[in-house]
Amino acid sequence: MEDLLIRNGLLLGASTGAQRADIVVDKGRIVSVGAVGTMGAFRREMDASNHAVMPGFVNCHGHAAMTLLRGIGDDLPLHQWLEEEMWPREDRLDGEAVYWGTMLAIAEMLKSGTTTFTDMYFFMDDVARAVEETGIRAVLSRGMIGTSEEEGSSRMEDSEEFVRRWHGAAGGRISVMLGPHAPYTCSETYLSRVANLSARLAVPVQTHISETEHEVETMLARHGKTPVEIVRDSGLMDRPLIAAHCVDLRQGDIEILAEKEVTVAHNPGSNLKLGSGIAPIPGLLEKGVVVGLGTDGAASNNNLDMMEEMRLAALIHKGANRQPTLLPAETVFSMATEAGGRALFLDDVGRLEPGCRADIVLMCLNRPHLTPANNILSHMVYAAQPSDVDTVIVDGRVLVEGGRLVELDEEKIMAEAERCARQISGDNNGG
Ligand SMILES: [Zn+2]
Repeated sequence: MEDLLIRNGLLLGASTGAQRADIVVDKGRIVSVGAVGTMGAFRREMDASNHAVMPGFVNCHGHAAMTLLRGIGDDLPLHQWLEEEMWPREDRLDGEAVYWGTMLAIAEMLKSGTTTFTDMYFFMDDVARAVEETGIRAVLSRGMIGTSEEEGSSRMEDSEEFVRRWHGAAGGRISVMLGPHAPYTCSETYLSRVANLSARLAVPVQTHISETEHEVETMLARHGKTPVEIVRDSGLMDRPLIAAHCVDLRQGDIEILAEKEVTVAHNPGSNLKLGSGIAPIPGLLEKGVVVGLGTDGAASNNNLDMMEEMRLAALIHKGANRQPTLLPAETVFSMATEAGGRALFLDDVGRLEPGCRADIVLMCLNRPHLTPANNILSHMVYAAQPSDVDTVIVDGRVLVEGGRLVELDEEKIMAEAERCARQISGDNNGG
């Protein structure tokens, strides 16, 4: 007997469009896609006749526990926001706060259809514990900073231990990458050491590259090279590497990223809010760079809603370039699902195909704003809302049903997150 039959849903795929089909899930994976009819026996059946059935969203970049800092230091430039508002509060974080901040992020992400998220932060054992307990899938990195030979060594050791403890854990739901923060917080020598460690441990790497003009100008003044060139020269691009942002790319940078097969996490909401600019995504796509979509942390977004991110990605490049043909709905839908999986080097995530992980979302179509059913894939990008999410399945396990978290205590998570947020703001009196 197989685990689950999802019957007669409208399957959405970036390359396949929309088609009616049944999906059979067993032992955490999709076993078959097509017409099942009356054959077979299943522990559970779901009627998806009124639903779109799509791969869960893959959030390619973020800092989950920054949910605790949501709404703090809004409307400031990146460096002032980081140095004056974020870092002093992050200094007061502990494992418990990171755990509850991550739980809050996971609750928000699951309810809005995200089944895989990416994280670079601190107290990562507590993040991994939250992932293990909740059933979501995640790609985790301990953030690493190092500008001198001595500094950063302990973070290198921490990262290695974190890889050994958690890579492939929780039934394969947790993958670990190394996470050197950025070329302006890590020296080229340090990045080279990270590249060597990544090769030795056989794990990919994630980092931030060229988020702002300020960063690029600083690197050019200091080293005579762009951040992209620094990362290339460090050897880090000879490893599987996903680069977040890539907003301010200079002459030749796109060619380097394409040639080195670096993948990119595009975070339009965060880049817009921090006034960083608009990444040259059409140019990257034209050169064949794999681009996924991310929300970044909730302090610079200020939510973790991948549908909003899809809509921003679909709109801003059209507007900025005065070209309505750029980033069509299929491309953006792929960035949030299939291309997102590839950007994270997860080859069995982001698609509804036999052999892939059973990370599946059922969206209610019986809604005024999704009617008429002219083009459901377009509706998902241009019209859908998180409240349309009905069912969320990760690794074959049903985590959201009827729009509600099945296993998690949402009220408790919000109360604990509220308490931790007061604590790191240095406000212990509540209110
Ligand atoms: Zn980031």
